[in-house]
Amino acid sequence: MSPRVVIVGNGHAGTTLAALLRQGGHRGEIVLFGDEANLPYHRPPLSKKFTGELAQWLRPAPFYAEQGIDLRLGDQVVSIDRTARRVHASSSCPYDVLVLATGARPRELSVSGAGVGGVVMLRTLEDARALRKHLVAERRMVIIGGGYIGLEAAAAARAQGVDVTIVEREDRVLARVASPELSAMLAAYHRERGTTIVTNAVVRRLTSRDRQVRAVVLDDGTAIPCEVVVVGVGAEPRDELAAGAGLVCERGIVVDECARTGDPAVFAIGDVTRRPVPGVDGAMRLESIPSATEQARQATAAILGLDPPSPEVPWFWSDQFDLKLKIAGVVQPGGEVERRGDPSSGRFALYHRDETGDVTAVETANAPADFMAAKSLLRSRHARSRV
Ligand code: FAD
Repeated sequence: MSPRVVIVGNGHAGTTLAALLRQGGHRGEIVLFGDEANLPYHRPPLSKKFTGELAQWLRPAPFYAEQGIDLRLGDQVVSIDRTARRVHASSSCPYDVLVLATGARPRELSVSGAGVGGVVMLRTLEDARALRKHLVAERRMVIIGGGYIGLEAAAAARAQGVDVTIVEREDRVLARVASPELSAMLAAYHRERGTTIVTNAVVRRLTSRDRQVRAVVLDDGTAIPCEVVVVGVGAEPRDELAAGAGLVCERGIVVDECARTGDPAVFAIGDVTRRPVPGVDGAMRLESIPSATEQARQATAAILGLDPPSPEVPWFWSDQFDLKLKIAGVVQPGGEVERRGDPSSGRFALYHRDETGDVTAVETANAPADFMAAKSLLRSRHARSRV
C-alpha cells in the first residue's frame, strides 16, 4: 500500500515535493495544504520587478487535479496529533507520512508607528501587490534592512523612478550573508544609480499623518521623509506547529540530510528547517529555492525508499539592476579573497579560499562560467570530504 502523504505548506518546497512524488511513481493519496488563497506561486519575482504580471504560478491550475494532488487552498493546519497521525485544519486529516513545509514569515519591525498605511513587508503576492500600488515616480521610499530582498526592491523601485533610501543597522549591506568585498561593490553600484544608503543606522520610530507614513526617524534624530516604507529585516521560520507537536526545533525544525525529523513519519523541508549544509560545521537555515528543491528531492527519495540524492553545493541568486548575482558555497569570515574581473564593468567574481588554498565559496556577477567552475570545484571538495 502506498502511504497517504500530507504536506503542510504549498510554497516552493511543498509543491515541488508533491510533483516529485508523482513523478517518482507514488500512487498513494497526496494532500497539499496552503493557508494562502492563491495557487502556489514563485516568490523571487515579488522583489525583482514592479512591472508586468506579478503572479507566476509554480504549476498551471489544472496540474493538481490531473496529478491527483488534493490541493486545499485557504486551509490552515492548526495542530498535529502525532499519536493519532492526524493534522487538524478546517477538518481533521489522517496521514501515514507528514511533511512540514511551512516556510518563513517576515520579521516584524518593533518600533512605534510601524502599523500605519504605506508600510509593507515583502513575502506574499498580496504584499507585492500592495507595494506596487505605492510605487509611483517621484514618491519617496525607505527600505529598512539592506539584505537581498531590500536591495532587489531598491533596484526595482529605482527603475520606476522612485526616490530610494536604504537604512541598514550594520556597517554594511548584506552583512549577514555576503563578504565585505561584495557588500562594498554592491553598495557602490546602487549609489551610482541614485540610491541613498545609510549604514550604522537604527530606526527609532515612524511618523505618520492621517494614518499614512510620513517619515522614518533614526536613533540620532534624523528624519527621512517618505510615503512608503518596505520592511526587510529578515524572516523567522514558521516552526510553531512542529514545536507544538513536540518535534525538535532550534529556530527552525531540525532535520538530517534526508529531511527527516526525529519522528520517522514526519519530514520537514524548505525555509522552515535547520539542516546540515555541505562545507559547514553544524546545521543552519538556508532560505533559497535551490535548498527547498534539494530537500524536496531528499524527502521524495526517503518516502519512495530510494537511495538519497548526493548532497548539493548550496547556492543562491539575486537580480539587481543589470547584475545577475550567483553565489555558491557559504561565505564565512576569514580566508583569502581573489577578485577576477572589474566591478565597475558589472562583471566580476570573488573567489574565497581557506588557508590550504581550496575554494570555499564564490560570489559572482554576470560571470556564469566562474560560477559553474567554482560550483563544480566545491562539489568535488565536498565529495572528497565525505570519503
Ligand atoms: P514558503 O515559500 O514560505 O511557503 C510556505 C507556505 O506554507 C506559505 O504559502 C505559507 O502560507 C504556508 N503555510 C505555512 N504554515 C501553514 C499552515 N499551518 N497551514 C497551511 N499552510 C501553511 N530564493 C532564491 O533562491 N533566489 C531568489 O532570488 C529569491 N528571491 C526571493 C524574493 C522574495 C521577495 C522572497 C520572499 C523570497 C525569495 N527567495 C529567493 C527565497 C525563496 O522564495 C524561499 O527560499 C522559498 O520560497 C522557500 O519555500 P518554502 O516552500 O520553504 O516556503
